[in-house]
Amino acid sequence: MSPTPPPRIAVVGAGPGGLACARILARHGITATVYDRDAGPDARDQGGSLDLHADNGQLALREAGLLEEFFRLARPEGQEMRQLDPSGAVLFHHVPGPDERFKPEIDRRLLRDVLLASLPAGTVRWGHTLRAVTGPADGPRRLHFADGATVECDLVIGADGAWSTVRRAVSDATPRYTGVSFLEAWFHDVTTGHPGVADLVGQGSAAAADGERGLFAQRNGGDHIRVYIIQRAPADWITAAGLDPRDTDQVRALLLERFRDWSLRMRRLIGDNDGPYVDRPIHALPAGHTWQHSPSVTLLGDAAHLMPPLGVGVNLALLDACELALALARHDTVGQAVRAYEDTMLPRSAETSRLLDGAVHDLVSTELPDFAAADAR
Ligand SMILES: Cc1cc2nc3c(=O)[nH]c(=O)nc-3n(C[C@H](O)[C@H](O)[C@H](O)COP(=O)(O)OP(=O)(O)OC[C@H]3O[C@@H](n4cnc5c(N)ncnc54)[C@H](O)[C@@H]3O)c2cc1C
Repeated sequence: MSPTPPPRIAVVGAGPGGLACARILARHGITATVYDRDAGPDARDQGGSLDLHADNGQLALREAGLLEEFFRLARPEGQEMRQLDPSGAVLFHHVPGPDERFKPEIDRRLLRDVLLASLPAGTVRWGHTLRAVTGPADGPRRLHFADGATVECDLVIGADGAWSTVRRAVSDATPRYTGVSFLEAWFHDVTTGHPGVADLVGQGSAAAADGERGLFAQRNGGDHIRVYIIQRAPADWITAAGLDPRDTDQVRALLLERFRDWSLRMRRLIGDNDGPYVDRPIHALPAGHTWQHSPSVTLLGDAAHLMPPLGVGVNLALLDACELALALARHDTVGQAVRAYEDTMLPRSAETSRLLDGAVHDLVSTELPDFAAADAR
């Protein structure tokens, strides 16, 4: 009798979730191919700094055999946290202890480099934009790419982020606007170029709010600082004000007007930035999003449970990836593994997304966040 051939596994999305899944599968002798629409690993800016938590993101990196590498590259000093008021006065200040390792920061690009370098050559196929997944629920499934190519597989893992194409094969849900918008601003060479901003932010992050708007500033590697200017506003607030989002000077003038009651020192975080602003209206999937179970398609990370960016997204994507890969290594069939993974992941993500649903509005609240209030008592 000929042995059963190994399942053909396709991971769509080379973000942290998709890459971690492929890496842990490879460590268990399971081959997967990762498809990503980016032309290559350097095709676009990977964004800012991420904190990886001991109780989820770091667990996944341990299973991936990459935890020591993470600690070698991470910035534990990035755990410093300041809560300021609109004048710049410090309301709360957490300075991490010398051995604090609960949530060190790492630049997103470095994390992706570590994951990519850990994969067998040829695992990631760049320049593959998925257009659709077809085929019966019990498989096999066919992936259809933008260039007309197709690939047949036994399991499709949708790790393709917020606007997932794989998700459409199992769910009608789409992300909805939360009512809160971020505008991203970058500051480079801060030690010499922006000493006032560097001083306000410290080695980690600094937040401030006045009830309608807020700021979240974060130190990144390489002497950069990223600031999110946060507003309760319609998603199209820039064009609704008659402005072109690409006109940095006009957008800056509007922002400085809206933050006119904040101190000059704090307004530097809004107006002294280098380069253009990046508009990021914040969307989320409905809390408790689930889908019709299929043994041939499953989802992880943002594709499964897009939540407001409150520091858990990457951590949950890594944990999902780890649990799915381990389930595939431990069960006899792909169908049993997908069922076991979803039985754990869906209730966990439902609980977290219910907790975070609406919490994005707390970013503009003048109440001290829970952690700061607890520490201040
Ligand atoms: C402004 C902002 C700030 C954030 N800050 C933090 C933070 O500090 N900490 C944190 O934990 N989380 C943060 N998040 C959330 C975090 O970015 C996500 O939760 C995380 O990246 C999800 O990982 P993922 O692997 O599921 O998907 P992604 O990282 O989105 O990766 C998806 C991949 O799929 C690819 N792809 C998409 N569509 C297709 C297609 N059709 N065909 C082929 N490939 C495709 C993309 O190119 C991408 O490489 C933030 C999010 C935002 C918006």
